[in-house]
Amino acid sequence: MTESASPLFERVAIVGIGLIGSSLARALRQYGVARAVVGADRSEAVCAKAVELGIVDVATTEVPVAVEGADLVVLCTPVGAYAAVAETMADHLMPGAVVSDVGSVKQAVVRDVAPSLPPGVAFIPAHPVAGTEHSGPEAGFAELFQGRWCIVTPPPGAAAEAAEKVADLWRRVGSRVEVMEPARHDRILAITSHLPHLIAYTIVGTAADLEEETKSAVIQFSAGGFRDFTRIAASDPIMWRDVFLNNREAVLEVLQRFTEDLTALQRAIRWGEGDVLQERFTKTRAIRRGIIDAKQA
Ligand code: NAP
Repeated sequence: MTESASPLFERVAIVGIGLIGSSLARALRQYGVARAVVGADRSEAVCAKAVELGIVDVATTEVPVAVEGADLVVLCTPVGAYAAVAETMADHLMPGAVVSDVGSVKQAVVRDVAPSLPPGVAFIPAHPVAGTEHSGPEAGFAELFQGRWCIVTPPPGAAAEAAEKVADLWRRVGSRVEVMEPARHDRILAITSHLPHLIAYTIVGTAADLEEETKSAVIQFSAGGFRDFTRIAASDPIMWRDVFLNNREAVLEVLQRFTEDLTALQRAIRWGEGDVLQERFTKTRAIRRGIIDAKQA
């Protein structure tokens, strides 16, 4: 996108000025996507920090005040907070406004937000598949979405023009956009993102429960693979609690398959079936090559 292109939105309200909200706010300003960016967060300190860092034009702890006059509202809190936020802001939304979000699950978001929105307001959920293990407004940066996918999941009957505008926003901040049904999004992300986080939390949790002497050796020699898991397992606990509670079915389904596959490998190790192990490890190597070829490494 060229920085001189005219703004897509006049006034964007970002609710939740954390890692993703502050990155989006920065990108909207940097790439000239919005004329004004207003922030809302439940914490006074976060609001003050966001203004001090020049992330937003103004910030408030009052969601209804932030959404007043906004032609786009983007929910960027953990998804467990969406229902209450949607209810609080509903009566203050401008007719014709678009409401969107960045949540890591999509069916639950449609379930929790859509019923509160008044007629004449379009709801176009989206999920930028980009992030880090850090939280809060200081962790954000405008380039976070560059070259990353953003999955837009308009519910059935959603206004096509609004969906296109939201997709355009994400393209302008550097993302590649894919449009998908919410249920399909949740199934795919259960395997590509949610299960890996669950595994990382488990492995690091197992290490945390080891007796002290072994634990300090684990930390000292962590480069042998464990270190990469600790980065993922340092991700925001509240955000991830909400992801698992809100994508329950899809996560439980992939977890069941994962458990069966793990048991098969356990059996191969027990019975010394080297060919089984080698075949499995060769297959997984090909997936890694595919990810590198798709420039997602
Ligand atoms: P974050 O850094 O913790 O930011 C969330 C912000 O929202 C915090 O400042 C939080 O305040 C605030 N908040 C919580 N409840 C609120 C409420 N009811 N009203 C107003 N503000 C509220 O989290 P994040 O990583 O940016 O994640 C935000 C969303 O992005 C989540 O829905 C997540 O699923 C999605 N997402 C995250 C990633 C990632 O890698 N992190 C990637 C893609 C999408 P407190 O600190 O006081 O709780």
